[in-house]
Amino acid sequence: MGFRGGLAVLAATAIVSGCGEGSDFAIRPASGQQPDQAPPAGALHSYADRLRADHTARVAAAQRWGLKKVPLTPPAPPGKKPRITTREGFEVTGHEDLNLPPVFTTVPTRHRVVFLTIDDGAEKDPEFLRMTTELRIPYTAFLSDYLVKDDYGYFEKMQSTGVALNNHTLHHPYLPGLSYRGQKREICGMQDVIEKRYGRRPALFRPPFGNYNRDTLRAAKACGVKYAPLWNAEVFADHWEYREGDRDLHPGDIVLSHFRGRAEGAGTMPDMVRRFLNKVTEKGYAVARLEDYL
Ligand SMILES: [Zn+2]
Repeated sequence: MGFRGGLAVLAATAIVSGCGEGSDFAIRPASGQQPDQAPPAGALHSYADRLRADHTARVAAAQRWGLKKVPLTPPAPPGKKPRITTREGFEVTGHEDLNLPPVFTTVPTRHRVVFLTIDDGAEKDPEFLRMTTELRIPYTAFLSDYLVKDDYGYFEKMQSTGVALNNHTLHHPYLPGLSYRGQKREICGMQDVIEKRYGRRPALFRPPFGNYNRDTLRAAKACGVKYAPLWNAEVFADHWEYREGDRDLHPGDIVLSHFRGRAEGAGTMPDMVRRFLNKVTEKGYAVARLEDYL
């Protein structure tokens, strides 16, 4: 689809449709036409003006970062949060009776949204921070201390962009191989590090490799963890992997990726984000903030 008649029309369309269809990069006014709907700099006071400015910035950012289309705008966070329960087949003995943190791969929602989660913390690419900030793509980080401790400042910058830093243990062990006390040291220890470095104890914990047993969830609960999100799909710089046989995305799916650079992966962090967003947008999904649904 081609040019649609100016900034105001495009922005209005974008607000309704989530700016996914067609003329993503057609923001220039036609020759001879004044961009008269655009407010002068410094006068962005109305809500509509702000949305329009936001969208214009996103269009420019999408183009700058080489996306095929402008990412869709997620709906407002749900006023009534969905009830998060453990996915069938992922329960441990006494899961509900002990009120252990739910283990889930998808958030129950009818919103066409998915959630990006990024694990470990080895790669600390400033371009990744710039890209996700400019594109306004929310994500949730799960950090392992042995990988992040050489540069806590990188994740402080990340936190300052509105990203929640969550628990992925101190040393990334195979938790079911440890005693209850050993697991608790790994999980509570990381709660302490994040509280000390970043000022708050995480509510979310993801077990390394997605492996856990009953002691893992008992320890996590004792350490103050509320949720244990896993994932339903994983994105790499060069391909996707899926948990479901349909090899597709679903509303509320949690997507896993890693802080991994060219040395360990098939591309850079921006390559991964590009692959993620191109698929998500093409399938008609927006990226929402996981914490907004919990
Ligand atoms: Zn991990």
